[in-house]
Amino acid sequence: MEEHRIPSSLARIVFKSVEEHIGENGLHVFLKRADLEEYIENELPDDDSPSLEMSKFKKGIELIIELFGEKAAKPLLLRCGKLTFEYALRTKPTLFGLAGLVTTFMGEEGKTRFILKRVLKESENLYSVPHLMTEDENNFYVEIQDCFYCGNLHSDNCICWPPVGFWTSMMTWITGKEHEVKEVECMAQGHPSCRFAIAKNGGQS
Ligand SMILES: [Zn+2]
Repeated sequence: MEEHRIPSSLARIVFKSVEEHIGENGLHVFLKRADLEEYIENELPDDDSPSLEMSKFKKGIELIIELFGEKAAKPLLLRCGKLTFEYALRTKPTLFGLAGLVTTFMGEEGKTRFILKRVLKESENLYSVPHLMTEDENNFYVEIQDCFYCGNLHSDNCICWPPVGFWTSMMTWITGKEHEVKEVECMAQGHPSCRFAIAKNGGQS
């Protein structure tokens, strides 16, 4: 079976974020080390056409964390998530625009549930790994099976920051408030999948 390829837009955002941190030359060094040399000359299109294979993308994320260290990689990867949300908002009117219309008369929680479900479905299509949603009184939980953000890394910490950045921006967009979003279990720590908690109630932003 041919390996799943991730959307160009996502890889593009990751490359851009690396460039913001270490400049164009730094990005080129990074791409060479990540075995992604071909993308130095061939700029990725700003759309969801399939680009690099998942295993190469995983290796790239892994390299970011190795090169920068967890402390510096965190803001970089949170920003990737935020930019990915902004990209999705811009390019997927049916996902967010229509959702906004349909959910006008729903409460915040119902609105979040409605949008989150659609976003997770879209993520499954784009990344070809299961994104499962559950909830309790205080949180929505997302489980990403075969998570591709932690590569094959091992860590004492939760290190999958791109989805945290994405959902943090998404929640602020939905409710106008800051919601706590955190990863609670990570495959890098030895858990079978990565799990995230998204607080239903937000505070002032
Ligand atoms: Zn992960």
